[in-house]
Amino acid sequence: VRGPREAHRVCTGYETETYLKQKVARLASTYAIASEPTSLTGWGEKQCEIWEHADPYLYLRTTKDNRIIVGGEDEDFRDPRRRDLLIPRKAETLAKRFRELFPDIAFETAYAWTGTFGETEDGLAYIGEHRDWPNAFFALGYGGNGITFSLLAAEIIRDALLGRRNEDAELFRFDR
Ligand SMILES: Cc1cc2nc3c(=O)[nH]c(=O)nc-3n(C[C@H](O)[C@H](O)[C@H](O)COP(=O)(O)OP(=O)(O)OC[C@H]3O[C@@H](n4cnc5c(N)ncnc54)[C@H](O)[C@@H]3O)c2cc1C
Repeated sequence: VRGPREAHRVCTGYETETYLKQKVARLASTYAIASEPTSLTGWGEKQCEIWEHADPYLYLRTTKDNRIIVGGEDEDFRDPRRRDLLIPRKAETLAKRFRELFPDIAFETAYAWTGTFGETEDGLAYIGEHRDWPNAFFALGYGGNGITFSLLAAEIIRDALLGRRNEDAELFRFDR
């Protein structure tokens, strides 16, 4: 980017490990399903997210068109072929876990998908410059929290480019 400081930004998701000698994230595969639109009662009416912090974890949320998204059932590998072959079985398990929790809500799976993500040892993303790559800014290792960490990354990298102090930058630096 051209600006007060000329720099490169690297935000290529889990492919980013290709550019770094330092191993910063553990790659895993995660699964999710979305239901057909359903009449939401009880929990559904409240439109809140549920996150079960067990191992394996489970999360549930609703959408604006009254679908229910259920996710989890992670696997500890990233091979895309092996990962995708498991979609039907994982979709069935996720639907079963939902029905056990909410037997009164009719749940029919409409979509099922999977993806790879990188988790770090302490659960925080890595954002900022790396000593091996002067003038390059990285943002990676979001785990399952890409919505929050990507916004923080945008703010931290914006401030670095503008030469401004960012209070969060310390938390996410590579040599923490
Ligand atoms: C199934 C699943 C469910 C999830 N659910 C949630 C959730 O509910 N909430 C949440 O906060 N997060 C969730 N996440 C995590 C979130 O999606 C990720 O943390 C986030 O998408 C990572 O963003 P990113 O920009 O780092 O990488 P990505 O979104 O993977 O984007 C990287 C992009 O770079 C491109 N790219 C790679 N290499 C190159 C190259 N050499 N040149 C050019 N382009 C390249 C890729 O094609 C890709 O488009 C989920 C992830 C998965 C897989």
